[in-house]
Amino acid sequence: MKRSRVLAVLVGGVFIVAVMSLNRMLELMQGAGLKQRGETPAGQDLSHLQQKIDRLEHLLSDNNRLVATLRDSLLQRKAPWETGARANVSSDSAHGQTDRLPGCRLHANDANLSVVYVVVVYQLLDVYDLLPFDNPDGGAWKQGFEIRYQGNEWDEQPLELFLVPHSHNDPGWLKTFDSYYQDQTKHILNNMLIKLSEDSRRKMIWAEISFFSKWWNDIDDQKREIVKRLLRAGQLELVTGGWVMADEANSHYFALLDQLIEGHQWIQRHLGVKPSSGWAVDPFGHSPSMTYLLKGAGLRDMVIQRVHYAVKKHFAKQQTLEFLWRQSWGSDITCHMMPFYSYDVPHTCGPNPAICCQFDFHRLPGGRVSCPWRIPPQPITEQNVQERALLLLDQYRQKSRLFHSPVLLVSLGDDFRFVESSEWDAQFSNYQKLFDYFDQHPELHVKARFGTLSDYFKALRRRLTAAGTTLPTLRGDFFTYSDRDDHYWSGYFTSRPFYKRLDRTLEATLRATEILFSLTTAEMRRYRGDGHLVADFPAHQHFQRLTTGRRSLALFQHHDGVTGTARDPVVVDYGTRLFHSILNLRQVLQSSAHWLLLLDKSQYHYDQSKPFLKMDDVISAQDALPQKTLLTLSDEPRSLIIFNPTEQLRTSVISIVVDSPDARVVDAQTGQPMTAQISAVWEDRVLYFHLQLDFVAQLPPLSLVVYHVTKASVGSANRARYTFHRRGNPPTIQTEHFQVSRPEGPDTDAPLSLSNKHVQIWSSSETGLLQKLRLQSGLVRQVQVQFLWYGTTRNRDKSGAYLFLPGEEGLYSSSEPPLVRVSRGPVFSDITSCFRHFTHRVRLYHLEGHAGKSLEISNMVDIRSEVNRELAMRIVSNVASGNRFYSDLNSFQMQQRRTLAKLPLQAHFYPMTSASFLQDETSRVSLLSAQSQAVASLRPGELEVILDRRLQQDDNLGLGQGITDNKLTASLYQLLLEDRRDEKAQDLRGRTSVQHLSLLAHLTSLSLCHPPITMVATSDSQLPKLRPFLPLQSSLPCDVHLLNLRTLEDTQEAGSPSQEVALLLHRKGFDCSSAPEPPLQCSWSAHEEVDTLIYLLYVFLYY
Ligand SMILES: [Zn+2]
Repeated sequence: MKRSRVLAVLVGGVFIVAVMSLNRMLELMQGAGLKQRGETPAGQDLSHLQQKIDRLEHLLSDNNRLVATLRDSLLQRKAPWETGARANVSSDSAHGQTDRLPGCRLHANDANLSVVYVVVVYQLLDVYDLLPFDNPDGGAWKQGFEIRYQGNEWDEQPLELFLVPHSHNDPGWLKTFDSYYQDQTKHILNNMLIKLSEDSRRKMIWAEISFFSKWWNDIDDQKREIVKRLLRAGQLELVTGGWVMADEANSHYFALLDQLIEGHQWIQRHLGVKPSSGWAVDPFGHSPSMTYLLKGAGLRDMVIQRVHYAVKKHFAKQQTLEFLWRQSWGSDITCHMMPFYSYDVPHTCGPNPAICCQFDFHRLPGGRVSCPWRIPPQPITEQNVQERALLLLDQYRQKSRLFHSPVLLVSLGDDFRFVESSEWDAQFSNYQKLFDYFDQHPELHVKARFGTLSDYFKALRRRLTAAGTTLPTLRGDFFTYSDRDDHYWSGYFTSRPFYKRLDRTLEATLRATEILFSLTTAEMRRYRGDGHLVADFPAHQHFQRLTTGRRSLALFQHHDGVTGTARDPVVVDYGTRLFHSILNLRQVLQSSAHWLLLLDKSQYHYDQSKPFLKMDDVISAQDALPQKTLLTLSDEPRSLIIFNPTEQLRTSVISIVVDSPDARVVDAQTGQPMTAQISAVWEDRVLYFHLQLDFVAQLPPLSLVVYHVTKASVGSANRARYTFHRRGNPPTIQTEHFQVSRPEGPDTDAPLSLSNKHVQIWSSSETGLLQKLRLQSGLVRQVQVQFLWYGTTRNRDKSGAYLFLPGEEGLYSSSEPPLVRVSRGPVFSDITSCFRHFTHRVRLYHLEGHAGKSLEISNMVDIRSEVNRELAMRIVSNVASGNRFYSDLNSFQMQQRRTLAKLPLQAHFYPMTSASFLQDETSRVSLLSAQSQAVASLRPGELEVILDRRLQQDDNLGLGQGITDNKLTASLYQLLLEDRRDEKAQDLRGRTSVQHLSLLAHLTSLSLCHPPITMVATSDSQLPKLRPFLPLQSSLPCDVHLLNLRTLEDTQEAGSPSQEVALLLHRKGFDCSSAPEPPLQCSWSAHEEVDTLIYLLYVFLYY
């Protein structure tokens, strides 16, 4: 393999073939382009090449500074321990002092943008303001309107129709992934080879690469050749190319992108093609974050289906079902929205399902499925072909009237279709007869054939160009989806919250492991000097573990996975995959850290049964929360290894469970003692069995740092002081080791208060729940925490896994007053309220820097005793936010939400992957979360999240069960109150829908989602010498997130790591109006008007 001294970098596209140098990159790109078009190198390609070079140069110069920083840090560094210096944190003081932050994103002014682009830009939010949501009966097309046409509309330009056969294969729903594969999917794909080969006019699209790759492993070379031939001939098209058809509400963009990379890399490696069209017909609502990733992956077009019926109707009336879906900062993709209720045959040929169903030839009489409209299909014969063809054409023509151009996309398929050979014959032969009839009757002005998505979009583009028109542009997202009446699909934003949290645990573990593994192999190659890895390091097995971890996370992004909408045994199957992946990744993490930490690398030895490092916690089962392991202390130091998976220097509190109330922690390198605190781990609310040691760690970016813990002399450690409150019934408390008080007399009614350098909080002495916040700046806001129940409606259709159909609601109350426990110490102070169904804790860390500026909120919820109830946490503030608030989309961007009186309560719940906020002219309250769930702001100043739901019944969307597999479920948040000072921002308030998190909120969210990872060295006293691993000389700019450092598979040796790594950076847009005081300890990009972008850099780490 050629080694290049050039830092191999490519910016812009999300993925491309991996490269070793810029020139090689260009060769590959050029080659791939030629292969796809089937052309030979010629003069016209030179301009194509020139364009690519120009673009690369532009992008590279744009990112010069960033790339240089990374190169210096990752590649040309001097080891800090050799120079005796700690990681150097750059701080550009000029940045923090001004009122408005340089480089922050000015709020996009829609009016200005529409002038710049000289096209009409629709805002989905404005459409919502406009629509009456009155749901009138539309006749045959129930949710639409009567469609009329003259009949001569196609005389000039004939109707050009593409019938796209598809089979929607859920990688887990009613059955597990493996069961579906065995029972259905493999037969579908096997028959596909036979049936497409029989007639070159037949076509098929396929989306789920998880299934496709599994099937590929099962088939022989001869069949593989047929697949390649069908792909080359354009009879088979792989659409989207993701591992799954991902959920777009609960999924984090890390996982969305990772499943897309996993799928595309598989396709690239085995088939050498690139998907060009997206196909998302079943995810329950659509997010523009997904479209950004698809565009970056090289897709040009996409199809979506599950959009609110009233929005569909509006778009259909305006003939804007096809549009350029644009991000708030520009980038866009051509999008086709299906007009009708579903993606099945009855709802795709035209507006009348009773007629369209007659053209689903899988439902011919005598089969297993029939038409619910009671008019069965008829086989096409010479006798009936005219009548049938004209009936179908009428539907096609009506549907065509909803679109701007005379090209028509009609899908042919449904869930797990085309299993049996006879079904293929029935569909393809009957439709061919109809198409032949159209061909024999030119007076009908229709050209119909089987097609793929690219066939359709190519024709659409040709027609649009010929007509000299462009599609309208649209911004916004398609949440919250409703398929009929008041059936809003906002329940699944929270359903199975235990697994939504496990998903993010795996995600954080995977990212940390990817980064550490990539750094380890690069360091090993440098250490050996010959490009090889250390012999004892199980690189191949570790890469297998990484691959399995990637694929488990990818599989769970399926729209019945992270959504919480699968049957109970399927949920357990997903959970087991996530759980095993976490355990496997931990092995990779531990042995990578082991090698990196050794001062004398020759001492490295891998023994899976006796790992040198262990995690400080144990997860015992797929449905169990992690439990800290007890660390036995003695006079001999125990080594703790902390990995900071973030690209920022951070001050973090590390918690371990110990057996001694007297302990001491020192930095192993410097011997410097760390600030520490001993607290009780309360088990039975008033009893404890274990002690917790918390200490403040300074963690350089991506570093592994070693600390020593020893048993210390009595009284040497700071111990937390406790106060217990319970109205009327003061508890008896175990008090050994700790100072515990029970307030009496007038003290009992005084509000509880905690403070650190940055913020003071007040809470109710009765419930312990938060009431008020004050910042050091003087800003005071009422911020009350409440809990409430939602029941389900008394109507026939009730809440279930997908739907939220609320009934009675009420504030949470319990017959017994809660036990309230206040702890105070030098590292943190907190207030814990123990209610029957949940334990709620608000904690303040006594830390410098951003970690001390927010409140940590944690909930431990158990609603297993309840029937048809959902528990919510509500924050009631006096922030004058009106009817607007903001919630994130996939943790990638913020979206404005408006609460509208014309919509029912359940319509106002939106997905929150990691952030939401509300604001007025002088303040902003942000709620940052470590897990996905539903969020709403039902009244001004209020923000609420649904914590768990327990629903006894099915909601009639096919699942066939309620959701009653609730568990003890944890949720974690940071609550942030910030001043807003920028006058410009105030001017624009209300006029813009584009807002970003502040830099402080970005950093807080980063810390929340990527906590430090604590490992414990074996207690063997013959410990080899360790040294810290400090790969970065300084933090990255704090608006740049290291999304991943992903080792690619070796192109020669399957299943092994290559020397190539995909470096994924995300540059974040941030808000202008709050400049944190004191300034943040990191710099940021000073370029104006640069917004959220993901860069993918391929880096050859070892050279
Ligand atoms: Zn599905």
